[in-house]
Amino acid sequence: MASPNPPSLRPWTWEDLHFVLIPLMCPGHLIPMVDIACLIAQHRVLVTVATTPANTARVQATVIRATALGLPIRILEVEFPAKQAGLPEGCENVDALPSMALVRNFMAATEMLRLPIERRIREDAATPPPSCIISDRNLAWTADLADDLDIPRVVFDGMSCFTHLCMHNLQLHKPHEKGAGRSELFTVPEMPRRVDFTVAQLPGNFNPPSNIDIQDIRERTRESAERAHAVIINSFDELELEYIGAYRKVVRGGRAWCVGPVSLCNKTAVGMRQRGNSCTAADETAGLIAWLDSHKPGSVIYACLGSLNRVGPAQMMEMGRGLESSRSPFVWVIRGANRGEELDRWLSEDQFEERNRGRGLVVRGWAPQVLILSHPSIGGFLTHCGWNSTLEGVAAGVPMVTWPLFAEQFFNEKVVVEVLGVGVGVGAEEVIHLGEEDKYGVTVRAEAIRDAVVKVMSGGGEGAERRRRARELAKMAAEATEEGGSSALNMRTLIDYIKEQRQAQTSKRIK
Ligand code: UDP
Repeated sequence: MASPNPPSLRPWTWEDLHFVLIPLMCPGHLIPMVDIACLIAQHRVLVTVATTPANTARVQATVIRATALGLPIRILEVEFPAKQAGLPEGCENVDALPSMALVRNFMAATEMLRLPIERRIREDAATPPPSCIISDRNLAWTADLADDLDIPRVVFDGMSCFTHLCMHNLQLHKPHEKGAGRSELFTVPEMPRRVDFTVAQLPGNFNPPSNIDIQDIRERTRESAERAHAVIINSFDELELEYIGAYRKVVRGGRAWCVGPVSLCNKTAVGMRQRGNSCTAADETAGLIAWLDSHKPGSVIYACLGSLNRVGPAQMMEMGRGLESSRSPFVWVIRGANRGEELDRWLSEDQFEERNRGRGLVVRGWAPQVLILSHPSIGGFLTHCGWNSTLEGVAAGVPMVTWPLFAEQFFNEKVVVEVLGVGVGVGAEEVIHLGEEDKYGVTVRAEAIRDAVVKVMSGGGEGAERRRRARELAKMAAEATEEGGSSALNMRTLIDYIKEQRQAQTSKRIK
């Protein structure tokens, strides 16, 4: 597949900056990284995004649009060694894995990308040599690649400042290993405010799944992240002031910069529609928007559990019933990995869609989430608390129903419900690791979902206060990303830091 071409470049000099971005191939990591690429390119810095053909296909519409606007951004495409790593052909993204048992193979395949990426970078005489690598925290091998190229590595991992700090303090003090049972609360030390969790709510690093052992990979990831020159975070200072302040004190050189919400760089309807999926069809989206247009402002709840969830049909049916009985209009996103056929059979036998016609819309597959959230009729977001989704909810100014499933999502729920006061939980109690859904069956009942939706969508009292706060946060998010805002300034600081590193290297070269 042809990569979009970079805009023509004048002959380069040693001072010219060139950022190489290497995202993890997983929607929640690839999508914000492409947003970050666009944000950096807005500073007239050449950006290369290294990825593989199936992932290029997902993001190329965004890159083509950016280059058409004159932004110096291009894709460096290398083949994904699926077969060599024991993966099905074309399986180039975590969301396409037939089973989570293949995660180790997937990570091995990403490691095989190192040599072709390095070769292509070294052979490219048309562009300035890279001045830094910004890579996903989970791609530990990119630390060695940066060392070999003698350039700084900046890490990105779609987590909040709160989570970064929690993870740091858990790793350092190991309070979860000090005798508390799986469902007993313990306090995370050295947090700006008291934060309690149970072991069962912790991400896989501290609460490993029983079916997949990747602790060695996690350990290597952690070690390589500690060697990084800087960290960039998809959040904004004003949202997590106490947490970014505390995190800067423990991160190398204090170089942790919030540059988000990065989704806000998608300003046009077409940009929002194609974000993360170049193929989202205009006509399908038009139907969705017309449906949203037919509802009152702030009246619809949008329900989506992210790009990776494998929630089984029985639990999804509870979700459908919960949305239906809330009496709010709803948009409900269902993935194939929810065992779509079984779920579809239930939907049709139950006449769910007929019964809810006009009031409920089922979206199968990929939903243009940021576009939907930006619609005035959306008044609430039922989310699994992936950090991207959480921040997209914040940026859209809507209160949230929180249903954390896996990874660090219980941390994000804590941010939404307790720190920001813009959410109501469905009462999820423990992490259900990806691939272990069947072991748990139904853990959240329709009534709990209904009650949380009713509270979030209600007009008066606490509901109104949550709504007011959510609107206030959205205003702060927009201001942070505008010229002169904290995230825009932090991006400038990152670029200036890399420029200083390059200048220091250049003067060494001259001497
Ligand atoms: N997303 C989307 N449409 C979907 C599902 C997901 O646009 O149907 C996007 C969503 O906007 C977010 C990302 O995919 O940017 C998911 O990342 P998140 O961290 O929320 O959760 P994950 O999918 O990694 O669990």
